[in-house]
Amino acid sequence: MVDPTSDLGEAVDEDSAPRCATCGDPAHGVGRRTVTWVDDGVVERRHFCGEACREAWSAGHDDLE
Ligand SMILES: [Zn+2]
Repeated sequence: MVDPTSDLGEAVDEDSAPRCATCGDPAHGVGRRTVTWVDDGVVERRHFCGEACREAWSAGHDDLE
């Protein structure tokens, strides 16, 4: 059996990568960050291109840390 999801790996190109919630750049590569939390039973997720953008975003969302 071939698992169609097994070869996605890290081969995400810029067009399909999630966008950084702070600067809008593609959030991919080794420096990317993802923040996940649950709000009223719904999983929310934000992607960032790097630690600096994640910190800039979380500075305005202290309640989520
Ligand atoms: Zn960014």
